[in-house]
Amino acid sequence: MLNLFKYSSNEKNKNTIKKINIARNKLKNYSNILLKEQTIKIKNEINDCNKINQNVVINAFAVVKEAIFRATGLTLFDVQILGGLTLNDGNIAEMKTGEGKTLVALLPAYLHSLTNQGVHIITVNDYLAERDATLAKQIFSYLNIHVGLITQKINNKERKKEYQKDITYITNSEVGFDYLKDNMAIHKNDILQKNFHYAIIDEVDSILIDEARTPLIISGNAKIEKNFYQNAKKIANTLKTILDYKIDEKSKNIILTVSGITKCEKILKIENLYNVRSPWIKYIINALKAKEFFIKNRDYIIKNNEITIVDEFTGRIMIGRRWSEGLHQAVEAKENVKIEAENKVLASITYQNLFLLYKKLSGMTGTAKTEEEEFINIYKMNVINIPTNKKCLRKDLPDLVYKNEYIKWQAIANECLDMYKIGRPTLIGTTSIKQSELLSEMLTELKITHNLLNAKPENVAQESDIILKAGRKKTITIATNMAGRGTDIILGGNPTKIAEQEIKEYIENKCKNANKERYLDNNEIALIIEKIKYFENIDESTSNNIKNLDDFILLYKKIKEKYKGECQKEREQILELGGLYIIGTERHESRRIDNQMRGRSGRQGDKGTSRFFLSLQDNLFRIFGGNNIEKIINQLKIDDNTPIESILLTKSLNSAQKKVEAYFYDIRKQLFEYDEVIHSQRKAIYNERKKILSYSFNRDCIIEYGEQTIEEMLTMYYKNQRKEFILEKIIKLLNIKIKLFKLYDMNDSELKAFLKEQFRVSYELKEMYLEQLRPGLIRQLEKYYLLQQIDKAWQEHIDKMNLLKEYIGWRSYGQQDPLVEYKNEAFNLFINMITYIRQTVIYLIMRSRLIVDI
Ligand code: ADP
Repeated sequence: MLNLFKYSSNEKNKNTIKKINIARNKLKNYSNILLKEQTIKIKNEINDCNKINQNVVINAFAVVKEAIFRATGLTLFDVQILGGLTLNDGNIAEMKTGEGKTLVALLPAYLHSLTNQGVHIITVNDYLAERDATLAKQIFSYLNIHVGLITQKINNKERKKEYQKDITYITNSEVGFDYLKDNMAIHKNDILQKNFHYAIIDEVDSILIDEARTPLIISGNAKIEKNFYQNAKKIANTLKTILDYKIDEKSKNIILTVSGITKCEKILKIENLYNVRSPWIKYIINALKAKEFFIKNRDYIIKNNEITIVDEFTGRIMIGRRWSEGLHQAVEAKENVKIEAENKVLASITYQNLFLLYKKLSGMTGTAKTEEEEFINIYKMNVINIPTNKKCLRKDLPDLVYKNEYIKWQAIANECLDMYKIGRPTLIGTTSIKQSELLSEMLTELKITHNLLNAKPENVAQESDIILKAGRKKTITIATNMAGRGTDIILGGNPTKIAEQEIKEYIENKCKNANKERYLDNNEIALIIEKIKYFENIDESTSNNIKNLDDFILLYKKIKEKYKGECQKEREQILELGGLYIIGTERHESRRIDNQMRGRSGRQGDKGTSRFFLSLQDNLFRIFGGNNIEKIINQLKIDDNTPIESILLTKSLNSAQKKVEAYFYDIRKQLFEYDEVIHSQRKAIYNERKKILSYSFNRDCIIEYGEQTIEEMLTMYYKNQRKEFILEKIIKLLNIKIKLFKLYDMNDSELKAFLKEQFRVSYELKEMYLEQLRPGLIRQLEKYYLLQQIDKAWQEHIDKMNLLKEYIGWRSYGQQDPLVEYKNEAFNLFINMITYIRQTVIYLIMRSRLIVDI
């Protein structure tokens, strides 16, 4: 095993960076061919000493730095190399937006790819995976490293190929689903992934914190109980809050009062709502949750008559995702849309445990420090803050707190008007679609031209366009949290992108005029643009088969040059106005999300400002503020229109926010702890499955299952009163033809030896019989029965474990620790499952016969 993971030394970093730069300078004179050869050279170096030593790191990083320069003309900053070294140590590099993380990841990715075990770069969405892979392909073409890309639309055949590449760009959900599917594969060739070696997670907080609250689930449709949902909804509508049920906003829970319970029992004509055999409680609680907690256009939207979830952190719609355990159906019932079938979980895993499958992990993001404890505890990754290349000049102004919400929004609208008048670009972040629309209406009334970006489908399509403009003069942008992650806002505009847009329009027009019959479709135009960009930096003629490509390249260069000048001028004007202004309209559930918002301004040493406008009616104050905040306000005695800018208040607010963070951390920790129990079982089952799948000869496994079954049943036999019954069961199971009484006189060891012997003999006879009829069939049968029974039992086991978790939840008012109880019972369930698998496999295989059609 290569000693890849030990190399770590923070103190040496400065020195190492110096050495990397020296090594890189030497490479400057190398021809492209010679540069390419460095890959083989470093590979040999690694093989020779069987580890990655400091020299290898230095050489590999230097080579990447040179390749980046040749492909893009950019020279890596020292802080970027420091970021690369941090990733290489298996840590999280906290680097601000716009610091160039995409390039940073290439350094350790290249190094780890040299051991031929595969590297995954994980992104939050397909767009980023595609964008970053395209760039990486250009750069690594100089180093003979193959870059793969897996997005939703890539089919299995291609996927397998992409997984074989040196470095593969992929989203977190694709890698997770492929893992689960691989472990449901029936044929060895259907397995797509290699072993999990090294992963670099981009936007690591978003993946390992925000998304880690809901597990990944592969499900199959099961029964549908429409009436239950409809009836539960009707009941929920008759129940009254406080009197019949209490709402716990903190834990998003509903608790029925005695009055509520009695009412439900009366309507349903049942005696005990909490009887385990009565299904109703789950439906009623879900219906109440749907009524109280799930708000249209905040938590979900209705699109094509379907409930589509809106991610509370990013504001994006999450197509295809459903709330689990009947909650989604309860919301469907509430909105009177079609109730989709309840899903049966076939396989599931949490992101925590998925990423812990990698031998080495590292991550990058702009915001992780506030969640450092969690990263250390669960993933053993430290969060290292990397200084910005240029000093950050953004001013984060103190919060302004208004007494009431309406006045807060008016103040925000007025602030926008002031900015609009002076032409300063402003980005306002809202936490819901509803709020973004409300503000948009207010701005329209004030005649402020603005762009609106939220999860509504008609707006999403323009996302990149809106972000492209967000840094331009006189541009006011309202956005739910989604905007800006992964795409940075450039002051004065991005000349490359604007030039791209113009050349695209030019080509479209040219096609139209040249030949009215033949339009190029969007994909074809995108391909031409990619080629233009690719050949732009290569001086020789393209000798490409695209007509006019050389002319297009020339024109593109000209347009870009023109905009470079214009954008630069505009940028200077904006900087004079103070740079991009970020307005936050509500503190989020985590300081990290607030920091993300602020981080959109002040990139690469630009000036900028951020300010949060809050009101005492905001969720954070209302739910988590406690008495402290109310006291402070009453002491201050101010009128409604004057905002409060108090350090004491900010402190209370911060502590409220920390409370929320801790609360959500607990939820994730709990999910993780519970999933850990099933995770070790899952690993055991998946390993057994993989072994069976990869062997063409599973006879030994059958014999082992048979013998273990005999031993287990004999243990029962000696403990049990109804001995005869057990013996009969053994004989039946093994399909042995023998008179029972013959066994009675045997002692323990004789009986065990006899049964084992009998089992072997009958199995050999079975083998011979089948082998004669169809050679090779028995081996296929063995594999088939083993896999079939493991999968069936495992799926039933998942169901039981889910139920167990739910019931442990109901039961846990006593003194016992529910997790300990869960672990104990889960262990028993697991043992039962294993016994069941062995017995059914033996039962089935001992009865297999070939029916031959004549
Ligand atoms: P992040 O992911 O950290 O927000 P990106 O990787 O998207 O940043 O890069 C932001 C911008 O900075 C890109 O336009 C990229 O080309 C540019 N960039 C990255 N590294 C450098 C560099 N060393 N010199 C100049 N520009 C750079």
